[in-house]
Amino acid sequence: MKVGLIGLGIMGKPMGANLLKKGYDLTVFDRNLTPVQELVAAGAKSAADVRELAASCDVVLTMLPNSPHVKNVVLEAGGVIETIREGSVVIDMSSINPMASREIAAELEKHGVKMLDAPVSGGEPKAVDGTLSFMVGGPEDVFEAHKELLSSMGASVVRCGEIGAGNVTKLCNQVVVAVNIAVVGEALMLGQKAGVSPDAIYRAIRGGLAGSTVMDAKAPMMMDRNFNPGFRIDLHIKDLNNVLDTAKSVDAPMLLTNQVMEMMKVLHHDGEGQSDHSALVKFYEKLTDEQIGR
Ligand code: NAD
Repeated sequence: MKVGLIGLGIMGKPMGANLLKKGYDLTVFDRNLTPVQELVAAGAKSAADVRELAASCDVVLTMLPNSPHVKNVVLEAGGVIETIREGSVVIDMSSINPMASREIAAELEKHGVKMLDAPVSGGEPKAVDGTLSFMVGGPEDVFEAHKELLSSMGASVVRCGEIGAGNVTKLCNQVVVAVNIAVVGEALMLGQKAGVSPDAIYRAIRGGLAGSTVMDAKAPMMMDRNFNPGFRIDLHIKDLNNVLDTAKSVDAPMLLTNQVMEMMKVLHHDGEGQSDHSALVKFYEKLTDEQIGR
């Protein structure tokens, strides 16, 4: 199976490295040459542009920032759609609007090309380890035929439904994470203002019902004032925009998410866009004029 990978950023580059380790015949493209050169040094081929890449591959993987980037690379002039062979498959691993996934799949279908949307959770460390969680939408037979390929980059690969279902699931993931981080910050500030140390609160409650993977990952970052990303506030704003667009289209109530989105926008305007999303605690610090400590 000849595999093409477009988008070699924080996530795409280590995912490409894992494909090479598993022995896949990999061709890569990014408009930034540095990660291309690194993967070529590790055994990949490089393509001059996405048209050349698509012409030579059975599967085209994309790992790009958002819906407009994926539409541009796949559908627009000079894009994958101009040269991809009938019977090939596109797997978009970016986190994008599920409505965009459906639009792109419908256009590809006209050219005899099937598509899966397969966003991931786990972030850079799991992209490096090859232990990402994939949430996948698209035809069952296409999923089954490419499950092994995705498993070479992930520890969990779950089909959630037809095309778009992967990104709907990813949006649900981003809602749970955003609201969870915000409420951890809210609770630690309550505790500190009421005279109990955040560290004691964290150690006492993490094993009970309130404990969560988010709490274990983010409460220590808040207490240590370590806001190095991780997952950036600006990227989470991008995802929550997709959440709110999708919610509007299906008339779903998003009370808590709307509040956290407003908090993230304030932080963005305060210059925290590149900080880890655990910096949500700074919203509470701004309101109280007090910093969270241990
Ligand atoms: P990134 O910005 O680091 O990488 C994107 C890459 O795409 C860059 O190398 C850029 O040069 C390239 N690119 C953009 N437009 C292009 C074009 N037209 N042609 C060729 N290359 C182009 O982003 P990332 O952090 O790797 O994230 C990728 C996707 O994965 C996003 O949708 C993000 O939401 C999602 N994601 C990220 C994380 C994370 O922790 N970073 C975790 C889970 C999911």
